[in-house]
Amino acid sequence: MLVTRFAPSPTGFLHLGSAYAAVIAHDVARAHGGQFLLRIEDIDATRCRPEFERAIYEDLGWLGLCWDGPVRRQSERLSSYHAAILRLDALGLVYPCFCSRKDIAQEVARSLSAPHGPDGPVYPGTCRGLSPQEASLRMRAEAYALRLDVAKAVCQSGTLAFEERGRGPLDEHGCITAEPMRLGDIVLASRDRAASYHLAVVVDDAAQSVSLVTRGQDLFGATHVQRLLQALLDLPTPAYLHHDLVRDAEGRKFSKRDHDATLKALRAEGHAAEEIRSQLRLRAGTSLARSLPGT
Ligand code: GLU
Repeated sequence: MLVTRFAPSPTGFLHLGSAYAAVIAHDVARAHGGQFLLRIEDIDATRCRPEFERAIYEDLGWLGLCWDGPVRRQSERLSSYHAAILRLDALGLVYPCFCSRKDIAQEVARSLSAPHGPDGPVYPGTCRGLSPQEASLRMRAEAYALRLDVAKAVCQSGTLAFEERGRGPLDEHGCITAEPMRLGDIVLASRDRAASYHLAVVVDDAAQSVSLVTRGQDLFGATHVQRLLQALLDLPTPAYLHHDLVRDAEGRKFSKRDHDATLKALRAEGHAAEEIRSQLRLRAGTSLARSLPGT
């Protein structure tokens, strides 16, 4: 059975861009007699707020999008993420990183050969070579994040691919060859977050038997490293559908700071749910017909 999910982070009110993602995940599931799940990605305690979570239920209800089964909240799943990190550690692929954001930016600016992925500069690997002795001494005294040694992980996993039902440079099997190094040595956990977005998403997509991940093209780069995590953790790989993004009049994608485009604001202005929903559906229909005929 086809299983899709909508996985918002309650760090702001849903805007037209997130409503579009929800409509696509919902409609693709319904069109195939599948299931549409709702997952609240609320691990980042510094940014997530209960009122935003409540607003997600309210907005989806207003739009008339019903999800199947209970809502899953990532803040209740920390032990599963911890187990996944231990497993990666047992493979020798995890190292502590003591760099602050500022250290990383300075290192990138200093070194002409700092690594860049297609999505911009990536972590330059400063702490990757620390000796185990130095690393454990510093772990007792300093804050640190845990990172994945992606190059080493790729040596273990070999070449990987994922099935793309959206638009992309597909091979003869309708797949895309994963380039897990695109984002560099990703963070797996940090002082503020028991698990990073990438880790939690792959663990949960597998635990919820999600078979088609529908999400915006802005997360295309993330899929490459998530495919690697699935391979390392022996998790099944869903198919992916990266869809277009709804943009504002200036061509920028909506962010949670665009208060005028939140469903809450549109509702307050007197827009009817039916009007918003049919505009999003019209757009989704055209976009999906172009990107995945027959799905
Ligand atoms: N929680 C992520 C967001 O709100 C979406 C994650 C995903 O679809 O993989 O952007």
